Amino acid sequence: MLERTLAIIKPDGVKAKVVGEIIRRYEQDSLNPIAIRSTRLTKEQAEKFYYIHRERPFYGDLTSFMSSGPIVVLALEGENAILRHRDLMGATNPVEAAEGTLRKAFGASLDCNVVHGSDAPETALEEISFFFKDEDLTLFG
Ligand code: ADP
Ligand code: MG
Repeated sequence: MLERTLAIIKPDGVKAKVVGEIIRRYEQDSLNPIAIRSTRLTKEQAEKFYYIHRERPFYGDLTSFMSSGPIVVLALEGENAILRHRDLMGATNPVEAAEGTLRKAFGASLDCNVVHGSDAPETALEEISFFFKDEDLTLFG
């Protein structure tokens, strides 16, 4: 099924200058970037984006980190894009991520794990519209 998913290259990935390498991997794997934008979240925006985790002990650190510097957000489109992107990302903890995944290659810790990816069709839709307007998503037809 042709799907869309939201990817975020987190502040650690931008700082480490692996944005180009990560986008190359997306293109190579036919996770086609149909919209790309750089931005920086305020603490409040990060809290809104990660609202689902509001009761977790790491919510404060996570939202501080995600608002600590510029990020790159991408809407990716491809066959089974949501799950295939999760596979390419690897496990949440880079220490547990499989060889060949982005988090294994570029992640340093649970906080600094380089990328975010939507985990289901409903969250993908919500997360894409958090960052992109409908007209941003029609360039590729
Ligand atoms: P994922 O990003 O793999 O979907 P989650 O949605 O569970 O993982 O968590 C969101 C983010 O919160 C993770 O990417 C990670 O940066 C951070 N995180 C998750 N679990 C922990 C934890 N136990 N301690 C610290 N940070 C965590
Ligand atoms: Mg998640």
